[in-house]
Amino acid sequence: MNITKKILFVTSEVHPLIKTGGLADISGSLPKALAELGEDVRIIMPNYQAIKTTEDIRYLSTIHVNNCAVNILETKLPGNGVIVWLVDFPAFFNFPGNPYVDEHGKPWANSAERFALFCRVAVEVAMNRSYLDWKPDIVHCNDWQSGLVPALLSLEYSRPATVFTIHNMAYQGIFPRTTYQSLNLPGQLWNPGGVEFHDMLSFLKGGLIFADRITTVSPTYAKEIQTAEFGYGLEGVLSHRKHFLSGITNGIDCDHWNPETDSNIVQTYSHTTLAKKLANKTALQERLSLPVDKNIPLFGLISRLVEQKGIDLILECLPEMLSHPLQFVLLGSGNKGYEQRLHNFAEAHPDKISITIGYDETLAHLIEAGSDIFLMPSRFEPCGLNQIYSQRYGTLPIVRKTGGLADTVIDTLPETLSNNTATGFVFNEANAGTLMEAIKRSLILYGHPKTWKQLQINGMKRDYSWNKSAHQYLTLYNHL
Ligand code: ADP
Repeated sequence: MNITKKILFVTSEVHPLIKTGGLADISGSLPKALAELGEDVRIIMPNYQAIKTTEDIRYLSTIHVNNCAVNILETKLPGNGVIVWLVDFPAFFNFPGNPYVDEHGKPWANSAERFALFCRVAVEVAMNRSYLDWKPDIVHCNDWQSGLVPALLSLEYSRPATVFTIHNMAYQGIFPRTTYQSLNLPGQLWNPGGVEFHDMLSFLKGGLIFADRITTVSPTYAKEIQTAEFGYGLEGVLSHRKHFLSGITNGIDCDHWNPETDSNIVQTYSHTTLAKKLANKTALQERLSLPVDKNIPLFGLISRLVEQKGIDLILECLPEMLSHPLQFVLLGSGNKGYEQRLHNFAEAHPDKISITIGYDETLAHLIEAGSDIFLMPSRFEPCGLNQIYSQRYGTLPIVRKTGGLADTVIDTLPETLSNNTATGFVFNEANAGTLMEAIKRSLILYGHPKTWKQLQINGMKRDYSWNKSAHQYLTLYNHL
């Protein structure tokens, strides 16, 4: 018999309240999927100034942690009613900016203090010491910002079970030893078998060492992070804990990313009405001042502009791409050097390239719907979401064979073509030559509309919902 579990989901960002990347998408959609399966889920996150919501926010209680008086507020996820508890401490969180950087893009100088306080409050809530009259069975933590939660809970008697999900090993929350001392954290945790990492404090390690179970967001990434190339010095810890580590591929919010109902695009469509997709291509070309041309292959890319995403490979490929009849639209922000070089290309080739620097949810949906091909040449990718959104929107992804990209895109090969499983183009090595080969392969197939359409349909018909993955999380919870 399946008994309802109480799950506290600890995260630093949740769509649609605040989002910088994929973690927010997962934190918005996985709790929703678990709630739909009948579980009692509460999300806990900091009360940032930038939070946007249409729902009411109400005061619940005040608790004292590490000499700070912190309020706990309650709101709901718009549209689905999942309860969100907001950790309200204005001296830390009531400033313009996002969870990790200030309004000028500078990392918060007091990140360690902010997230250590957040973790302490999550522990108080987890131990039912916050006057909320609710004690979770499972505390599900996500990424380094919640890494101290399993560590601190390990010191508690009669604690809930803990799960720690790695969304990206590249971000570890590493701070000097002096920060550890100033944070007033318990001395027992400071050792190489604890949160100490080469004489520094590692928030991430708190999760990896002390959580009862570790998960990451795809089976391939679960293997990769046990190697030096992807493990950032923690591969030893991860292989040591490999019997407690598993990969569960992310689902997506199929209501929010649905070409049949999406209100952000100009024309909805499905795999049976694919011809209607063209209206979105036209709208995209018009909006970005590119020549309107239904036959020209249109490449899209939406990303944080960081080394992880292989933006340098795109920059290397652009001169050769420009020798082909194609258009390329990019939406993203990040590394200033990349932004400048991309701008230079767009300025020199305004009839072929459009670069939008910034964050724009509506444009992101239109790019998914209006492009023919989506580029995602990541050097590593724990799961990745845009390649999944692309397949759902009939936009064929070109991805590197790594992490979740390898697990979610099926390369176009003779056998996958003939058995109708191919959904995109996969290349192996992280270099411009192999990426360009994949781009050329896609251009050749684009010239065969019947085959192209079959590839689109293959991708659009696959099940990307949380259903399967949410059940995998439930099975994991039930084992604890
Ligand atoms: P990551 O979490 O590493 O940034 P993912 O592919 O897992 O990468 O998720 C990225 C999410 O952020 C997607 O929902 C994507 O559409 C969105 N995104 C990234 N950059 C932008 C942007 N500039 N404008 C709008 N959405 C963006």
